[in-house]
Amino acid sequence: EEIWPRPASCRVISVANQKGGVGKTTTTVNIAAALAMHGQRVLVVDLDPQGNASTALSMERDNQTRSIYHCLVEDEEIRKLAQPVPDIPGLLCAPATIDLAGAEIELVSLVAREARLKRAFAAYDTSDLDYILIDCPPSLGLLTVNAMVACDEVMIPIQCEYYALEGLGQLLRNVDLVKSHLNPGLAVSTILLTMYDGRTRLSQQVADEVRSHFQDTVLDTVIPRSVRVSEAPSYGQSVMTYDPSSSGAVAYLDAAREIAHRAKR
Ligand code: ADP
Ligand code: MG
Repeated sequence: EEIWPRPASCRVISVANQKGGVGKTTTTVNIAAALAMHGQRVLVVDLDPQGNASTALSMERDNQTRSIYHCLVEDEEIRKLAQPVPDIPGLLCAPATIDLAGAEIELVSLVAREARLKRAFAAYDTSDLDYILIDCPPSLGLLTVNAMVACDEVMIPIQCEYYALEGLGQLLRNVDLVKSHLNPGLAVSTILLTMYDGRTRLSQQVADEVRSHFQDTVLDTVIPRSVRVSEAPSYGQSVMTYDPSSSGAVAYLDAAREIAHRAKR
């Protein structure tokens, strides 16, 4: 089995794009799984009240479950609520529960409301982790701001579709605002083209346009549209375990390998 190089210290990466349905959750789950399957120790933080990453990683949840909500609002320790992902050694997930939907409002009145997640990471001994991947909700509210304050790198999935670049300027301006006021080390390190359909000229046009704007921030690997990728979550799995030889799994493996071999820029 191929082992990838470990980063010198834990890389904290927010997977963000305020547009819904562009592949944030799919990317988070599958990159995390691929990294863990190649010797990396990975924590997925599900910061979306929808909890799709938690579902895709088979997190047990009921109304007693302590989730990332309790970490943000009640100072619960991440270590206490992170659960191992079945069948993928080295992969943990801090799940989301529906309480998180109220967190955008509840956070407003808390001290250092933008830095709650950062604080939680600071209290967690990350020396036994290589990556933390944060699956952001489809908005630029306080949850996403918390992710951007707590991370070093932003990864932006871009869907190869109409209006792919719509809203991207606003996202980049938000990254800049967080960088200048709250987290000077923040950078957009990675752009990943998702749901690429080689049969359409449109997909190629979007890919070309994104590459000409963002050059080598864009991974060489593009994620193809693949039915297996969209089926996997309903089995509580990443496509990496659901169908490792499918085109989607192979592409996510290649993308994860690129990420593992890239230093932070
Ligand atoms: P987001 O988290 O940005 O809202 P998701 O990752 O949930 O986006 O993806 C949106 C939908 O598209 C989901 O139903 C997902 O299964 C599907 N999807 C994502 N990536 C692919 C792909 N490469 N091929 C086919 N379907 C995909
Ligand atoms: Mg999502």
